Amino acid sequence: MLLMIPGPIELSPAVKGAAALPAPSHVAPELVAAFGRVLGGMRQVWRAPEGAQPFVLAGSGTLAMEMAVCNVVDPGDAVVVVDTGYFSARMAIMLERRGAQVQLVSAEPGHTVAPDEVEAALQQRPARAVFVTHVDTSTGVRADVQGIARVAKAHGALVVVDGVCATAAERLDQDADGVDVYLTASQKAVGAPPGLAMLVASPGALAARAQLSHLPPLSMDFDAWRPVMKGYESGSPSYFATPATSLILAADAAFADLNASGVEASWSRHQATADRMRAAWQHLGLTLLPHDEAIAANPLSAIRYPDGVDASFLAGVRERGVVLAGGLHPKRKTQYFRVGHMGWVTTRPDLLAATVRAIGESLSDAGHRGDIDAAVVAVAG
Ligand SMILES: *Cc1c(COP(=O)(O)O)cnc(C)c1O
Repeated sequence: MLLMIPGPIELSPAVKGAAALPAPSHVAPELVAAFGRVLGGMRQVWRAPEGAQPFVLAGSGTLAMEMAVCNVVDPGDAVVVVDTGYFSARMAIMLERRGAQVQLVSAEPGHTVAPDEVEAALQQRPARAVFVTHVDTSTGVRADVQGIARVAKAHGALVVVDGVCATAAERLDQDADGVDVYLTASQKAVGAPPGLAMLVASPGALAARAQLSHLPPLSMDFDAWRPVMKGYESGSPSYFATPATSLILAADAAFADLNASGVEASWSRHQATADRMRAAWQHLGLTLLPHDEAIAANPLSAIRYPDGVDASFLAGVRERGVVLAGGLHPKRKTQYFRVGHMGWVTTRPDLLAATVRAIGESLSDAGHRGDIDAAVVAVAG
């Protein structure tokens, strides 16, 4: 089975090998070295500013989101949430539970929010922080994080970006773009198994934690984890809560893959893959949920079902050995499906071609005709 969903994803042989090793102790020398390399690797992939702190916790992307919320926002703080779909809505719920005053700036499914709209919201009411989902995995839309961050900074707001799915697949320079928290999870474009929450906090975000009047839960407190992360990076481990040691070994292999050719190469490969996949969708007579290709995300495609086809066609794709995902946006769920094309598969045109062929043939079974051979050539070259 070929796992072509927007995470978890197919893993490289090196990552699979590392994940299969016996779980080391949290203070074993090989684990300490691997943990240190993961944190250093994050600094490179994120392009973290001087004085930033990377964190890796056992947990999923949702934990990383909550960790960001409760370390930079106090109850009563005003915040802006750029709402592009399912995951921004989740962020807003977390902020409400933290007691923040949440102002949503919302886009219709398949659309994004312009920096001007964020500017207008900030002019109406200053905010402590602006929250953005880099790639909204529910709609396949990419937000203009750079433009939104510029506006937020000009209004003195912190910038928190949910990069789950986007990190390593979409251009982002945490330092140059002025992003205070950039967070992700191991199972998306980073290319490791699920189970690690990853986050880099800028000096501004760390200062926000220091100034909180209501402390975050201990298990996700920047200040509780900082000495542990610093310890791993300097080669002297200390215990606070047991890290997911097997996953750290797998993440170490994933970052070694990423940093061997550099994050720039990873961004370009994801862009080129997305371009080829979009050419294939055209040959198959398919259209995207994002209303404009310029905002269509690189790590996945959200594709409308053509007339006469519905979610039952996904079973035909699975029978051909490829697993896809259904729709996720509550307003449009039944109208589209999703294909992940991130991580290791971006180095394997043969697997991308097998995916396109399985989709083309199943559509054909459902009565929708496209040019399957042309679509396969578009991805396989
Ligand atoms: C997958 C995803 C999440 C949630 O991550 P989990 O690991 O499932 O908790 C959050 N935000 C975005 C944009 C995602 O793609």
